[in-house]
Amino acid sequence: MNSLVRISHYIDSTEVLGPGKRFVIWFQGCKKKCHNCINPDGQAEQGGSLVSVEDIFSEITNSKGIQGVTISGGEPFLQFEPLQELVDRIRRDTRLDLMLYSGYTMKELKRRLGETTLKDFLQKIDIFIDGEYIESLDTGSMYRGSDNQNIYFFTEKYRSFARQIYEAKSREIEFDVRTDEETYMIGIPPKNFYHEFIKKVGEVR
Ligand code: SF4
Repeated sequence: MNSLVRISHYIDSTEVLGPGKRFVIWFQGCKKKCHNCINPDGQAEQGGSLVSVEDIFSEITNSKGIQGVTISGGEPFLQFEPLQELVDRIRRDTRLDLMLYSGYTMKELKRRLGETTLKDFLQKIDIFIDGEYIESLDTGSMYRGSDNQNIYFFTEKYRSFARQIYEAKSREIEFDVRTDEETYMIGIPPKNFYHEFIKKVGEVR
């Protein structure tokens, strides 16, 4: 099986979205519409581009020196079939670890997919972060946009760091400048940063 997946973009190596150097892929499309969403370009369900899971997997295996893959969005669970396929392929054919974001809570995901399907899937994920972005709860926490979000450690790999990760208040962002017209912000920005930044860029232009 080689499903197509609609993605916004990917980057073959960054250190700002999870432990160590990681390949990061942003799925396209999200229905949550969080106030001051930290990735508004990722919301349109028909935006981004369609690529095959196999092609993404090849890009991942071509990326040198990474220790894991982070899947973010948009909302990855809106494309559950290709998401499963990608995760299974990474698990089966690499030693990379997996970090996954969803704007849905665990409870919402159980309702959408059923408890057994969700449990079977999530046991392959090392770090899972759930829940929508709530700006008033954005306190600069590591890996989380806002403190309503939970961090789950479904494997042993990072479980011993759970407390440190939960308590850390550190975030970094990077800019991936590809062309004059195309620049991506990587990582979770400080509160209001994205909207202020876009406003300033607009003023400069
Ligand atoms: S879940 Fe994430 S991508 Fe979706 S609207 Fe909220 S902040 Fe934006």
